[in-house]
Amino acid sequence: MRGLLKKVASRSLAVAGGAKSQHQQLRRLNIHEYQGAELMGKYGINVPRGAAVSSLEQLKDTIKNVFPSENELVVKSQVLAGGRGLGTFKNGFQGGVHIVSKDKVEETAAKMLGQILVTKQTGPQGKIVSKVYLCEKLSLVNEMYFAILLDRNTAGPLIIACKKGGTSIEDLAEKYPDLIVKVPIDVFKGITDEDAAKVVDGLAPKVADRKDSIEQVKKLYNLFRECDCTLLEINPLAETSDNKLVAADAKLNFDDNAAFRQKEIFALRDPTQEDPREVAAAKADLNYIGLDGEIGCMVNGAGLAMATMDIIKLHGGTPANFLDVGGNASEGQVVEAFKILTSDEKVKAILVNIFGGIMKCDVIASGIVNAAKQVALKVPVVVRLEGTNVDQGKRILKESGMTLITAEDLDDAAEKAVKASTN
Ligand code: GDP
Ligand code: MN
Repeated sequence: MRGLLKKVASRSLAVAGGAKSQHQQLRRLNIHEYQGAELMGKYGINVPRGAAVSSLEQLKDTIKNVFPSENELVVKSQVLAGGRGLGTFKNGFQGGVHIVSKDKVEETAAKMLGQILVTKQTGPQGKIVSKVYLCEKLSLVNEMYFAILLDRNTAGPLIIACKKGGTSIEDLAEKYPDLIVKVPIDVFKGITDEDAAKVVDGLAPKVADRKDSIEQVKKLYNLFRECDCTLLEINPLAETSDNKLVAADAKLNFDDNAAFRQKEIFALRDPTQEDPREVAAAKADLNYIGLDGEIGCMVNGAGLAMATMDIIKLHGGTPANFLDVGGNASEGQVVEAFKILTSDEKVKAILVNIFGGIMKCDVIASGIVNAAKQVALKVPVVVRLEGTNVDQGKRILKESGMTLITAEDLDDAAEKAVKASTN
């Protein structure tokens, strides 16, 4: 349910389909490249030999033990965002991916570890690099694009292939729209030889064996299906001078709804790379999705939360989040929810919209009052309460002495919140 709500809530912001996938990270498990490469290796997919390290001491040992005879290595910053190659560190160091001679690996990694990398997908705040992935340097003769995602139009997995790769799919789609091949897969039948052959034709490998390539594509699909992926993107899928297809990068996302049967994969979650608001919300078991607007929303019920977001937009505002506190949230959860909203610096006004059914207005009111005692309330709060125990709820708010803006209905509430946020 949670995953479904997340998908619905982000629909208005994320463009469906493959082109703009940046928003997906917010709603799904995203794992690091080195973890994705290890998983692909288990499925028989060709990946470069590599090892992730988190300190310079570990790096020295790894070079000695794992790469004794290499002359050059690829040093790759591990952050949960793409565009690392063209990224910039806050310390001024250019590029999150470097190919260097072995004697330069340590000084390169030293400029990455513990530093903040900003790419076009991280947002200006960037992401911390806690690990670097050292890989054997392959001699790549060709770079292609490969992805499998869940497609709305065909209501199933869709494989996207392009004979040009390395740069982002957004750029590829703009430059070479005719080279992008899409092959929908029947999820019940699984991938057929014909499907895989179509994909390989789209990739048009120059030197790699066609039969082997077809097998690699099938293995990639099997991983996608068996591991409950929502996205598997390899950019570049490369060809090496020894005629092999190799996955030289790995971006894998997994469906949150499948966490119960993908325990090993979900144990890889790295909260240091996630939206801190969402980490806190997940701990409190709240249905919360961080967005980038200025009006914090606290609503009960997913439908009402969606409607609230829509009406905020209608009145010219933008929601800072989707938050459904659910039907039986405890006072403690309401306190946590309110803390998350107030700790968000972008939030300029808070809109509480409760239609009490199973959820009781007095529980919400007590939660708000208790939260206000624990955090400094710096922004106006608009409250619309209706339904079960509404009188008790209103009394609790009134007696608390908090300055609140009360609203009669949803429309009124949204209008007041938008106005309050711009004052
Ligand atoms: P991204 O920028 O976050 O997508 O990071 P990538 O893992 O795709 O690395 C950026 C670029 O580095 C790739 O597009 C490749 O061109 C290059 N690259 C990565 N690994 C290798 C390798 O083993 N050999 C060579 N020659 N280039 C590589
Ligand atoms: Mn890449």
